[in-house]
Amino acid sequence: MRLSQFHLSTVKEIPADADIESQRLMLRSGMLRKLAAGIYTWTPLGLRVLRKVETVVREEMNRAGALEMLMPSIQPKELWDETGRWEKFGGQLLKIKDRAEREFCYGPTHEEVITDFARAELRSYKQLPLNFYQIQTKFRDEIRPRFGVMRAREFLMKDAYSFHLTPECMAQTYQVMFDAYTRIFTRLGLQFRAVQADSGAIGGNSSHEFQVLAESGEDAIAFSDTSDFAANIELAEAVAPSTIAPAATAALTLVDTPKQKTIEEISGFLKVDPTQCLKTLIVQGRDGLVALCLRGDHEINEVKAAKLAELPGESVLAEEAQIVKIIGCKPGFIGPIGLTIPVIVDRAAAVLADFVCGANKDGQHYTGANWQRDAQVTRVADIRKVVAGDASPDGHGTLKIARGIEVGHVFQLGQNYAQAMNATVLDEAGKARVMYMGCYGIGVSRIVAAAIEQNFDTAGIRWPEAMAPWQVAICVINPKNNAEVNDAATALLQELQQMQIDAVIDDRGLRPGVMFADIELIGIPHRLVISERGLLAGTLEYRARAETENQVLPRAEAIALLQ
Ligand code: ATP
Ligand code: MG
Ligand code: MG
Ligand code: MG
Repeated sequence: MRLSQFHLSTVKEIPADADIESQRLMLRSGMLRKLAAGIYTWTPLGLRVLRKVETVVREEMNRAGALEMLMPSIQPKELWDETGRWEKFGGQLLKIKDRAEREFCYGPTHEEVITDFARAELRSYKQLPLNFYQIQTKFRDEIRPRFGVMRAREFLMKDAYSFHLTPECMAQTYQVMFDAYTRIFTRLGLQFRAVQADSGAIGGNSSHEFQVLAESGEDAIAFSDTSDFAANIELAEAVAPSTIAPAATAALTLVDTPKQKTIEEISGFLKVDPTQCLKTLIVQGRDGLVALCLRGDHEINEVKAAKLAELPGESVLAEEAQIVKIIGCKPGFIGPIGLTIPVIVDRAAAVLADFVCGANKDGQHYTGANWQRDAQVTRVADIRKVVAGDASPDGHGTLKIARGIEVGHVFQLGQNYAQAMNATVLDEAGKARVMYMGCYGIGVSRIVAAAIEQNFDTAGIRWPEAMAPWQVAICVINPKNNAEVNDAATALLQELQQMQIDAVIDDRGLRPGVMFADIELIGIPHRLVISERGLLAGTLEYRARAETENQVLPRAEAIALLQ
């Protein structure tokens, strides 16, 4: 490749509407151009980097035995109705209609499509396990698209879905994917941490996020200074209460007295449609009575709370209480039957309860929704944000807090989707069994931005070797009408190609300072300078992107440095 025949379009000015360094540098280096909010064009330069990431992801997925396929990005509403997610996915789902008014969405994720594929394709347990993946453009109508491709609306994801007869088999593939992700992010040269993540309604320890460590990260992670404990801070906050000294916890009692408000009263006060109200309940909080209103369909996807003032003889709905956090029921997730929903109201009381969540489909869930009276109900007096220095929830060491960028997420889904969509195979005894599933996502385009957040300086990007658009730039001094240096550059390029090194010749004829500034800005890890003077002396000038000094070396020695 020759830059004289390439479209390199670097920009000096710092873009005004860019919030973080990776976004500024991707725009300045000419990797990206914005088309609309959260929607970007990848230029030939940007695409080279994106493809390098994709290649590593693909190689490792293949190595781990996953099978590549490609699903449509446009998905029919009917499939999403089967899981209830057409409604539940919320505003992130971009809904579209065709000319016949049939409804579709632009896929934000592909659980429905792959489960539909699997129920049609898979008949026998003998075909399992199988792990399918694709690398594909997703669309999520994020409320606040920002940070360039970091939180875009249109972005590239690798998503994989595995199918199993048993939960043990699902756990095995989960581990295989966990290890593949570890290899992927290591090969990409990223500093990352795998952390336990909120596994939504499933519970247990069945979800991990891979977080690239960076100050600009939107996530926070908490990890122990002495043990392996590492979790997304949301999860650390959820598990921390149970490790607070037992003295701090006290039973939170459900109140069920004649004074109890009716569904209509509570939902009316909280402005929730009573027909959408799964259940209301009143609990004794630290500072008095709290009324909770659980709204949802197959699952609870909203919890609202009100404080109750007690007057002699009656309780009065006094003011809306702030729900600080609801853990364990994520919009867009099909709730299993026994659901644990810790709810933190006003940071004062945590309700940790098994909630029997019913859907409305016979044979799939219980109908109706029941509050289990004898379930464990715990109040934590001093729930607070997890901060550095807190005792680690696993009892070993103290917590450190770091910021991170979620670049990957692995998940044991269990039977939720397969059950909702009736995806079964016949077992050894010829009996239909609902399959177990895992799902595994990687933000391919987000990785590009995340890598820059970890690797830049005042001159520009400093690509990790595996992601660089080219590993080596051969900078030609005065290429115009100088056949000798041009031929030497071409010969060097060919030699490097034979060594499997991806190199580019900068033969644009720019002044050396301007040329070097561009090469530094776009982050090429190694630079070799060919000049007439060097040719005469048999030397090349070498500089690593990370260094500040040039080395003038005999040609062979300079090339040997690149091996
Ligand atoms: P986030 O918490 O950042 O919104 P998510 O948990 O919604 O991400 P997943 O559903 O787990 O995302 O999707 C798998 C991966 O896709 C994420 O780990 C992330 O790397 C990437 N991803 C998700 N949303 C975006 C986005 N808006 N722009 C770029 N990449 C994204
Ligand atoms: Mg998201
Ligand atoms: Mg997330
Ligand atoms: Mg995630």
